[in-house]
Amino acid sequence: MKYFILVPDGCSDWAIESLGGKTPLETADISNINALAKVSETGLVRTVPVGMEPGSDAANLSLLGYNPAECLTGRAPLEAAAMGIEMREDETAIRTNFVTLDGEIIVDHSAGELENEDAEILIKFIDEKLGSEDLRFYPGVSYRCLLIAKNAGELKAIPPHDILGKNFAEYFPQGDEIYRDLMRRSHELLKNHPLNIERMKNGKPAANSVWFWGQGKKMSLFPHKEKYGVKGCMVTAVNLLKGIAYYAGFSCPDIPGATGTIHTNYEGKAQAAIEAFKNGEDFVFLHVEAPDECSHCGDLDGKIKSMEYIDKKIFAAVYDYLKNCGEPFRILVLPDHKTPLEIRTHTDEPIPFILFNSGKDLVADETKFFSENGVNENNFFESGSALAEYFFRK
Ligand SMILES: [Zn+2]
Repeated sequence: MKYFILVPDGCSDWAIESLGGKTPLETADISNINALAKVSETGLVRTVPVGMEPGSDAANLSLLGYNPAECLTGRAPLEAAAMGIEMREDETAIRTNFVTLDGEIIVDHSAGELENEDAEILIKFIDEKLGSEDLRFYPGVSYRCLLIAKNAGELKAIPPHDILGKNFAEYFPQGDEIYRDLMRRSHELLKNHPLNIERMKNGKPAANSVWFWGQGKKMSLFPHKEKYGVKGCMVTAVNLLKGIAYYAGFSCPDIPGATGTIHTNYEGKAQAAIEAFKNGEDFVFLHVEAPDECSHCGDLDGKIKSMEYIDKKIFAAVYDYLKNCGEPFRILVLPDHKTPLEIRTHTDEPIPFILFNSGKDLVADETKFFSENGVNENNFFESGSALAEYFFRK
């Protein structure tokens, strides 16, 4: 048996006036996925436990059969794993953004999507000046760096992208004074750094402070294969999902040109999934960040287009392979959470799914679509792990 889960991150949405009251999913031409929806079981699933932040970390863990309320310690330990940093029990990983402060205001959570080379120079400088045996700074991807702190004090922090345009001093992290102190000192060190002077000369935002958030201790997940008996592969561009793959025990191929944006390498991802199946993996979890990223940017056209690319360039290719592979197979298509364009952030509402089982001969139902209103709302799963249990074992 082959198992395929396709996750267009954040593709589910609310009705949009300019689309005549339809959602982006109802508008996009996703004819391949919708053809399969007609002969699939459809329904709704709650992927984020009530009371938890609707982050991609919690939602995707849930889809894989884990309970995020029990196992998720923070996003930074997942990113640390993806970056190849081995954490010890007494260490805490802390996401360290390079941000742009202007006077009292935080104006950019990414210092203009800071280039990798600049981030590397600046984080090395910060590590030299502020690091110690117990505090080590690491470069990541773009503005997303990491602090590994030994025997760290308590930290309660707000993600910088949630406070843009606000007086940052009001949102400084709570807990141990050391974090506020490090942030203040980083600003003093960075504001006159030659690289920042050069950036400003070129009209780029200065990376003139670090901002801490997303902290957590080393995680512990049971190996996915132990519970579900399938050998898994993760296909993704983003470190968060790569970190989940590390902890769950999945293979995780590098996909050249996979970016996490609408300009990602769709064909390359489909090919990686097919290769994984050919090489004996039983299960592929294929994640595409593009619809979520478009939602955060308020890009309606991009969100619709990214779904069409996913349908034509990924879904159609992998489905074609599975249909002809000579083995029974199951396919689950669903987002991890909704990211409504109107609010440009995630919600914890239940999300639609379609579940195809090649062993079940369902009569085609023309009223079924992969969309918020096209699924059977009476087929409701209380958690992602309940759906995973059903998908892998029933
Ligand atoms: Zn997500």
